[in-house]
Amino acid sequence: MSGTAEPTVFERIAAGEIPARMVADTERIIAFHDISPQAPVHVVVTPRTAEYRDVVELAAADPELLAELVSVARGIAEELADGQFRLVFNTGPAAGQTVFHVHAHVLGGGLEEGSLG
Ligand code: 5GP
Repeated sequence: MSGTAEPTVFERIAAGEIPARMVADTERIIAFHDISPQAPVHVVVTPRTAEYRDVVELAAADPELLAELVSVARGIAEELADGQFRLVFNTGPAAGQTVFHVHAHVLGGGLEEGSLG
């Protein structure tokens, strides 16, 4: 949790307060299937705490944690989606970010060639 703010939905998942289909769980990072999948494989990878609201803040403040997040994403894609995947960080509400606790979407499995959607 950051400051006195309410815990984010992802912090509540990390604490076990909201159930999720977990696929990775490390000291600093968790990953779980998105509740509303946009691809055959759609996993959210996020730090346990909401210290950084988006990838820009995370990259500036803790590049090692960002690298670890990407590494966890790659491992998930190798396990669930033949190692090829799209890694999406929605950054800001106008870009579709709804949870202001940095996270990556790992999208894979049967994505259309050339598709950006
Ligand atoms: P954003 O739109 O912020 O980039 O992504 C937030 C994602 O979190 C969305 O894809 C949404 O479906 C997912 N999400 C929101 N609440 C929950 C939840 O309670 N459980 C799971 N598994 N995913 C959630």
